Amino acid sequence: MGKKDRLTTRPAFVTLRDLPGTRVMFWVVGECPYCGERHLHPAGNLRTADPGERLGEVPAPCNPERLYDLQLPPKPQRKKGKEARKKERRKGRVGDGWDVE
Ligand SMILES: [Zn+2]
Repeated sequence: MGKKDRLTTRPAFVTLRDLPGTRVMFWVVGECPYCGERHLHPAGNLRTADPGERLGEVPAPCNPERLYDLQLPPKPQRKKGKEARKKERRKGRVGDGWDVE
């Protein structure tokens, strides 16, 4: 009689944040699939860690018996951005200042 979905791992969409003043990153679960709250997961150090490695199944903080699957949210379709044209600026040359005696 056991419900299978009791142990089903649900996806949890995350966004990457850094902690101001530090080099620590967090994956932020905006809305936990189980409790609806926000959860934070350390994603490592800005310099050394690859936060992507921290994605995947982790225990939900609100219920360690359950896992959820940290995932990046699907990206909305991008509008084609304006083409940013970089105008090359000619550097004004400072005159060599020939000194003619
Ligand atoms: Zn939760």
